[in-house]
Amino acid sequence: MHATFPLGRPAGIAVGAHWSVLPAMALLAGFLARSPLPDTVPGLSPAVYWATGVTGSLVFLASLLVHELSHALAARDRGLVVDGITLWLLGGRTEPDGDPPSPRAAIAVAVAGPVASLAAGAGFLVAGLLSTGVAAPALTWLGWANLLLASFTLLPGAPLDGGRVLQALVWRRTGDRRRARAAAARSGHVLGVVLVAAGLLQVVWSGSLAGLWPAGLGWFLAWCARAELATCAPRS
Ligand SMILES: [Zn+2]
Repeated sequence: MHATFPLGRPAGIAVGAHWSVLPAMALLAGFLARSPLPDTVPGLSPAVYWATGVTGSLVFLASLLVHELSHALAARDRGLVVDGITLWLLGGRTEPDGDPPSPRAAIAVAVAGPVASLAAGAGFLVAGLLSTGVAAPALTWLGWANLLLASFTLLPGAPLDGGRVLQALVWRRTGDRRRARAAAARSGHVLGVVLVAAGLLQVVWSGSLAGLWPAGLGWFLAWCARAELATCAPRS
């Protein structure tokens, strides 16, 4: 997947966005403008809700970038060349060239993103508590969204960050990189299938289409994990 348009070079790392970011941002702005903002602070004009919703979705995009930049800077600190970061529909993608030199370095690179999201989430929640008006629910939503992002990415299955941690731990224990990669990919596949099942059960049980989100994410996770597993097969 390639970036459709460049967004600059913070800290010397090329950042770009795939076109799929635009509908995701529009959906998010619409959701914020129609639900949490008017529900919490009613009686304002639609223009205020929409302006805050658009700002909130842009700040969320920026916090995704902070997550990815943290991975990229941690990778560069450990001697890896980072080709660039691409933001897209389901988040971001940092492209280091090559593998981390040790399990310890792999863990440091993997946890850098979730740690940044946890810090951002806590910061937004505090800012939400200290704010008034329509900014308060927007900041609170950004806080929970970042905490959810950190928690989701720490789930122990590749290609998620938690999967990279699992991979590094198996690598350290067995000394076998390929076996570690396969174990993390298998775990990612199981995790994806569980998420699809949980999402579909939610749709059937409650009749709410909200379950399609975890189901879609799970399907994508399982698909990526299978593709990764295929690269772990012993060469004949
Ligand atoms: Zn990450």
